[in-house]
Formats: sequence, C-alpha cells, structure tokens
Amino acid sequence: MQVASALDVNAIRRDFPILDQIVDGKPLVYLDNAASSHKPRQVIEAISRYYLRDHANVHRGVHELARRATEAYENSRTRVARWVNAGDAHEIVWTRGTSEALNLVAFSIGQARVGPGDEIVLSEMEHHSNLVPWQLLAARSGARLRYVGLTDDGHLDLDQLEGLLGSRTRVVSLPHVSNALGTINPVREIGAMIRSRSDAVYILDGAQGAPHLAVDVRAVGCDFYAFSAHKMCGPTGIGALWGRRALLEEMPPYQGGGEMIEKVSRQSSTWAEVPHKFEAGTPNIAGAVGMAAAADYLEGIGLDAIHEHEMALTGTAMGLLAEVDGLRILGPASPEERAGVIPLVIDGTSAQDLATILDAQGIAVRAGHHCAQLVVDRYGLSATTRASFYLYNSNEEVHRLAEGVRTAREFLLS
Ligand code: PMP
Repeated sequence: MQVASALDVNAIRRDFPILDQIVDGKPLVYLDNAASSHKPRQVIEAISRYYLRDHANVHRGVHELARRATEAYENSRTRVARWVNAGDAHEIVWTRGTSEALNLVAFSIGQARVGPGDEIVLSEMEHHSNLVPWQLLAARSGARLRYVGLTDDGHLDLDQLEGLLGSRTRVVSLPHVSNALGTINPVREIGAMIRSRSDAVYILDGAQGAPHLAVDVRAVGCDFYAFSAHKMCGPTGIGALWGRRALLEEMPPYQGGGEMIEKVSRQSSTWAEVPHKFEAGTPNIAGAVGMAAAADYLEGIGLDAIHEHEMALTGTAMGLLAEVDGLRILGPASPEERAGVIPLVIDGTSAQDLATILDAQGIAVRAGHHCAQLVVDRYGLSATTRASFYLYNSNEEVHRLAEGVRTAREFLLS
C-alpha cells in the first residue's frame, strides 16, 4: 500500500539529523511524537544564533543587547500569536508548556470566577494536565467536577455534554485532540453548544492540536487555548496560553516576582499590563525564539499538507494493522476523525512488552496510560502501546511498524 503524500519526506528528514541513526542494528523509526517531537536544524540554529549574538535580560536594560533580546522575545510572541490566529499578541502568555498554561488558567480563573457549588465540566478524555489542576481548584473552592463520557469508538458523548451545561457551569475545559485516542474533537460545535446553554469559560488543551492542525481560536470561539513548543518541533520548557484579553485582565496573577508588577509598596502591589502580569521573573527567552522558529518552519511546509500526510500514514497503518489477528486499535474508526495517534492493544499481552519488542527492532513507541488514566479505565485497560506520527515519518516506517507488531504478537502469544 502506497501513501499519496503531500510532503517530500526525504527532504524534510534532512532537516532532522537525529532521525538518521541506528538503534539495535536497525535504522531508528521514531513514532513517539505525541510525547515529544524532534527539532529541525532551523530551530536549533535560531536558538544558537540568539545565544551567540543577542542574549541579555529582557525589558530591563537600555543597552543594545537588551534591546535585541527584548525585540526577539516580543517578536516571537507576535509570531506565536499568529500560530493560533490570536487578534492581539498581548493575548499570548508565555509558560513552560501546556501543563503550566492550564495550571495558570485554573488557578487564576478559579480565583476570579469559581466558588462553592459551581461546576467545572471536564471529560474522560483528559490528559492529567487538564484534570489535576481542576481537582486542586475544586478542593480549594468547593466547586464540583462533572465529566463528559466517551463513546465506544472514542468520541466525546456530546448529548451528555449538552445535559451537563447549565447556570452552575463556570468552566468547560476539554482537549482539542486526544493524546491517548487520537480523536479530533469538534471544538467549534462544542463552543456553540456551550455558548447557547451557559456563561461558562471555554478552555481547550491544545497540546496535541496546535502541532498538527491549523488553529483559529477566534473561529473556534474558545476563551483559552494552551499549547507546548516541544510537540511542534520547538524546544522543551516553553509553551503558551492564549486567552481573551478581557478575561486575562480580569484574572489575578498566578505567580509574583520581578517584571509582573507596576508598583510595589510594603503591604501591596499593583500589576503590570497583560500579558506581563502573568510572567514573573526572567523568562525562557531562547525558548520563545525557538518556538517562533518552529512555527516558521512548520508554516513553510504547510499545516494542511502535514495533516494530510499524517492522515495518509494513519490510514495505511490502520489498514496494515487490521490484518494482525487479535489486535485492536482504540479511537475513531476513520482516519479523517483522528490525528496520527494509534493506540494498540493485543488482548492477553502487556503493552510494555509490545513496546520493548518494538524497541529491539529500532521502533520507538510509548506504552502506558499516557497520563490519561480515565481513558484506559473507560476501555477496561491499564495501558496501551501508542504509535504517533509527524511530518517526517515515512510510508516505509509505517510498514516497519506493522511488521514489528506482527513479529511481537507471534512472540508474545507463542
Ligand atoms: N495535554 C495533552 C493532551 C498532552 O498530550 C500533553 C503532553 N503529553 C499535555 C497536556 C502536557 O503537555 P506538557 O507536558 O508539554 O506540559
């Protein structure tokens, strides 16, 4: 089976030297992209250039390097704002990643808007990063967590969501794309449903959305969107929270320190303008530069082409793996309804053993609950083996995966 790809994968792979290596005597097949993606030379060079020429602390000095660093940092904010089609760069708050972005919004919106008896709606599809911060808020505020369930084929149960929405709903926080099932959620339709039935703040965990799909936060109609650079060819330790400006202004700060204040006196302080109010201390300037370079790189290739390529790889993988006896793939049956995430289950075997046997063939996948314990619980499992694709994966690698799974199955069930 041949993939009709929109991408020149061989040319793309030349930008990623890390992919060109031998593991256990076999060429590396990296299929752990949902956990973290690799970085092209262009991103690594942008970070090096910044440190070799321009580094200083931002927003503080009047000297040339401070000016250059501040310009690089703020231009990166503008670049990343464009990535999600934000109306205004001031609506982008730099964070350490999706987890910190979701903790920030849970803490601050929680303080501003959530009290005893209020309801926070999540789903059984959550990554723990979009679950534990809300549990902490519920414990602090006396609010109640409600959960949208999942259908057998890995979709959110939208009828149930509709029934949960009402005058007590303060927050609805859901994933754009599931890291454990691959499901792409109908976030625009969900936004319209929330607006028609409640005044809730609508938050999206975009960790698996922003790297793979063209995101337009204004068209989706959400209030916050959280994402990480390291899953979109950027560095670790940096990510962003997009939020509507009026809400960001209403929210209290998340952390205190330098740069987030307007005026400090002995007993109290006033806050800097949004977004600086949320950015205490010296930020990850080189990370911001790297995230912007990653956005440039991916845009140069084209997100629609990347998504089409991933869908084609997913279709091929699902076709080949369907021929393996006793193997199940969780999530939607159609490649069009999912991102390039394939959670595999061979009943009667351990997910960890399958990943270990694949590793011995040079194939990197992830086994476990993928920080989404409610998902594996929902399907009566404790773990899955997850393969996940990105722009640099080839058709040949999908065939290696299918061959590897066949070999592993024979070994495990013999
Ligand atoms: N949400 C989802 C859906 C994810 O896949 C991840 C990363 N595995 C996160 C949140 C957390 O992202 P980070 O570790 O970059 O903070």
